Amino acid sequence: MLKIVDKSAQLALSLFPQAYSQKRGYRTFHFAFGWKKNKLLAIGQNYPDKPSSKALRFARMFKTPQTITYPYLHAEIDLVSRLWGKVHIDNHIKIVVVRLNKTGQLQNSKPCKSCRTVLDALNVEDTWWSTNEGITNGKVLHRIGGYKEGDRR
Ligand SMILES: [Zn+2]
Repeated sequence: MLKIVDKSAQLALSLFPQAYSQKRGYRTFHFAFGWKKNKLLAIGQNYPDKPSSKALRFARMFKTPQTITYPYLHAEIDLVSRLWGKVHIDNHIKIVVVRLNKTGQLQNSKPCKSCRTVLDALNVEDTWWSTNEGITNGKVLHRIGGYKEGDRR
C-alpha cells in the first residue's frame, strides 16, 4: 500500500508543473489516483473554474446536497467518473488524494463529506489523503521524502 502512496505523491509532483502552467490562477491543485493492486487505473483532477455537469450528475445520483448546490468537480469525483462503466468500483479500488499548493507543497486533502458519501456508497474504503506532513489514511501517517511511518495518535 505504501508503494502506491509514494507513487501517487511522485506522480502528483511530476504532473504539477504542467497543471500549474495551465492554471496559474488556481490556489491549490488536487489529484486523485485510483489504484487496483499496483496498477494505476485513472487520475482525477479538480476543476474549481466553473460548475460541472459531471459533478451535478454524480451529486444527483448519490444524493449529495452540498454538491447539488455547488456543483464543482472534485478530484475524487472526476476519478470515479473516469472509472465509471470501465472497471467495477468496490473495495478493491484504492484511492490516494494529493493536494499541492502553488509552491508544490502538500496540503490537507481529506475527502469532503460529499465525496466521502460517494466513496462509501461504492464501498471504497482504502482512501489516503495528503496533509502538510505527509499522506495519511486517518490512522497512519506516511511521510513523503523522509519515508518514515508514524502513528498519528
Ligand atoms: Zn470533495
